Amino acid sequence: MYKKLFIPGPTHVRDEILQAQTAPMIGHRSTDYSDLQAEVTPKLQQLLYTEQPVFLYACTGTGLMEGSLRQTVQKRALVTVCGAFSDRWHEIAVANGTPADRLDVEWGLGFTPEMLDEALSKDDYDVLTLTYNETSTGVMNPLQEIAAMVREKHPDVLLLVDAVSAMAGAKIEFDAWGLDVALASSQKCFALPPGLTITAVSDRALARAEQMPGRGYYFDFLTMLKYYKRNQTPATPAISLIQALNKQMDDILAEGLENRWARHIEMATIVRDWARQYWELFPGEQFLSNTVTTIKNTRGVSIADLNKELGKRGAMISNGYGSKLKEKTFRIAHMGDLTVTDIRWVLGLIDEILGLS
Ligand SMILES: *Cc1c(COP(=O)(O)O)cnc(C)c1O
Repeated sequence: MYKKLFIPGPTHVRDEILQAQTAPMIGHRSTDYSDLQAEVTPKLQQLLYTEQPVFLYACTGTGLMEGSLRQTVQKRALVTVCGAFSDRWHEIAVANGTPADRLDVEWGLGFTPEMLDEALSKDDYDVLTLTYNETSTGVMNPLQEIAAMVREKHPDVLLLVDAVSAMAGAKIEFDAWGLDVALASSQKCFALPPGLTITAVSDRALARAEQMPGRGYYFDFLTMLKYYKRNQTPATPAISLIQALNKQMDDILAEGLENRWARHIEMATIVRDWARQYWELFPGEQFLSNTVTTIKNTRGVSIADLNKELGKRGAMISNGYGSKLKEKTFRIAHMGDLTVTDIRWVLGLIDEILGLS
């Protein structure tokens, strides 16, 4: 049976978007393709409030986490870790032999500018990694405030942002906030199938990459930029996904960016209020995510069984992430193209199954 996804990726994809992927194939060196990339790119720049290049890579977000670390760390990276996805930055640094220190907070908490100012002052760091929205714990870090601190007090530090479960669901003003890399996979708030990564890159990051001889091949920002200038990519792009993205960006801009951010906040507020009534929220109050809510399983129900029952009714939520949080927490994603009506529907199903109301 078809299940509507309330999991934090892949998210529910509308039929119109699935359809948009079935357009006839075009040659990636043809003007048809260049026209497509030239059409979609300004829409992405509008989404990110940026005039910097926005690259399209045929891979998932993890690829660009690796690609951006390899191209920017000359001295040492400070890696902030507040859950499973932010931990991945550190695993990638270790796997690449990239000098890095990790700064951990308890899961459920996030980072403040003060904490990161202090940590950055301790060593000669030139990169900071931050996970805007930590999908495993439902923590949203105060990105704008942290970026303002970095630009003011540590101007030589590049800020690499995993915005995988935030971009297109929460506002990111790439230029005004002073970010250096912001990357997102297509299967989260963009509400597309997986396989494409959208990546904004600043002039500062491009200048740093120029000084990095071992920056790798597939993700090389400078090769990407060379092709970007003629609306192409060095390797074959994920053409069908880009065709779907072009349609999705029209729909996102038609909804209106401010409306889209507000819809995500409204859905988050409904889930939080419900969670406070029947359970407890897992994250600290000042770090609650606008795109996914992690809830403590204070009633001790079987989340696996709950999900089976939801499945029979055509919905799916997420168990807690990994051995640490499974069955102890569960997650309801409210991102992408889900609506307030969808959210009320799935919460109503849970109420009915567990006899909550
Ligand atoms: C889903 C997710 C990732 C991993 O993305 P892939 O597309 O699987 O590479 C990384 N970071 C965050 C915050 C995520 O939510």
